[in-house]
Amino acid sequence: MTVLVALLIVVGVLLIWRGRHFYKNAGMSKGQIIYMDTHGNGRVVKPLFSGRLGLTGKPDYLLFSKGRYIPVEVKSTPMPSTGAYLAHKLQVAAYCHLVEEHYGKRPNYGIIKYDDGTYQVDYGSDLEKDLTDVVGCMRTDMSRKNVLRSHKYLKRCIACSFQPVCGDDLTS
Ligand code: SF4
Repeated sequence: MTVLVALLIVVGVLLIWRGRHFYKNAGMSKGQIIYMDTHGNGRVVKPLFSGRLGLTGKPDYLLFSKGRYIPVEVKSTPMPSTGAYLAHKLQVAAYCHLVEEHYGKRPNYGIIKYDDGTYQVDYGSDLEKDLTDVVGCMRTDMSRKNVLRSHKYLKRCIACSFQPVCGDDLTS
């Protein structure tokens, strides 16, 4: 019993440290962590769901600061020299949309936390429209029998779980 209590205290201290460490690295000083996706190290948080776009998912962190929710996506890679990739921005936009539908409050922006810095993704009407368009295209593609590759990145195909059954991948 004593060991269990000691273990719980250690886990609690580690989670507090991780939260403070994250804030420091994300360049944020104030705010509350609503949750962090603990990757199996703690309480499992249910994914958020959007009935309007038919999306589900959850950001790595969800912060609350100055009356606003801020979804945060963590990438283990350095920030691209041109800023965030469009795909990363759209991912954060999807989280903003999910948060808005779930909590009834629209995030002004989300954050991508790269290995070497942070990038703020402003969630304006243009990005929201891009997100809606992309989701619409994905729905159309899902109803098609064959969908052709939309990129030229070998690395992406190598890391893709659909590669063994794709037929249009760049690995062969
Ligand atoms: S393997 Fe196929 S589905 Fe996967 S990224 Fe490459 S082209 Fe796309």
